[in-house]
Amino acid sequence: MILDGKKTSLKILEKVKEKVNKLEKKPHLVVVLVGDNPASKIYVRNKQKAAIQVGINSTVIEMEEHTTEEELLSKIEELNNNSDVTGILVQLPLPEHIDKNKIVTAISPKKDVDGFTPENVGRLAIGLEPYFYPATPQGIIMLLDEYNIPIQGADTVVIGRSNIVGKPMAQMLLKRNATVTICHSYTTDIEDKIKTADIVISAVGKKIVRCKMVKKNSVVVDVGIFKDENGQLTGDVDFDFVSSSAAYISPVPGGVGPMTIASLMLNASKVYQ
Ligand code: NAP
Repeated sequence: MILDGKKTSLKILEKVKEKVNKLEKKPHLVVVLVGDNPASKIYVRNKQKAAIQVGINSTVIEMEEHTTEEELLSKIEELNNNSDVTGILVQLPLPEHIDKNKIVTAISPKKDVDGFTPENVGRLAIGLEPYFYPATPQGIIMLLDEYNIPIQGADTVVIGRSNIVGKPMAQMLLKRNATVTICHSYTTDIEDKIKTADIVISAVGKKIVRCKMVKKNSVVVDVGIFKDENGQLTGDVDFDFVSSSAAYISPVPGGVGPMTIASLMLNASKVYQ
């Protein structure tokens, strides 16, 4: 069975829209884009489109590639102090001369719709409710819940340990009482680990989950999205082979991607002030 992220995301966006409609003061999301990265421009455009769709006010602030760290920090401070702004998102990656961690840390945790600030990450890690959960893992949990896939007690394997997907994904699975194994580029026996997992979540950006690797009737979530040698968009999972063993599998595109956007809009609809 396909974990249909497109269909599920539309349901979530509809609920967010209803919620936003009832709010007296509309949320206002500000997206800061530094430089000319073409992929980032597309992501920002998609986020803005989704915000309009659900009635969230959104502004994109475009800053030049040569913007200094100080200028960006000062822009964030201005946005933190602006009570009209309820959400701040700095589109990553940033130009190399800017320290990403310094920038993320400067965002007010109560406006950090990406859930990347140390306070939100720390709150999740110590079992407190963060103000915002990172969008992709939150979207994946919502997708699993939509299909009533049991998480509690499940043996789960997360492949990838990035700050935006792998690590928060593992934390969110732990929070739901799953047993979690995290794999990365130094893991020596990934195949053995995948073979015994009830749920496999792959966030690598390379074709890594192949053929008969997965357990019969397991659940496979493909976060990866990249272009193959023919320029076609693809994911980490060899869909045709793996889908013959798995009970549930998310496609690329149409799986985690739209769930991430819906999840981000859910975050952007939250107002703390
Ligand atoms: P990332 O920061 O590059 O992290 C990739 C992770 O994969 C790292 O932890 C790396 O291990 C691990 N890895 C690399 N080669 C491996 C191997 N051979 N075996 C096992 N692990 C390996 O990437 P990311 O930002 O998490 O994104 C991962 C993928 O998801 C990308 O394709 C990205 O485009 C996609 N993505 C999609 C969405 C969406 O909404 N659909 C959102 C975010 C990301 P080390 O830590 O040891 O280097």
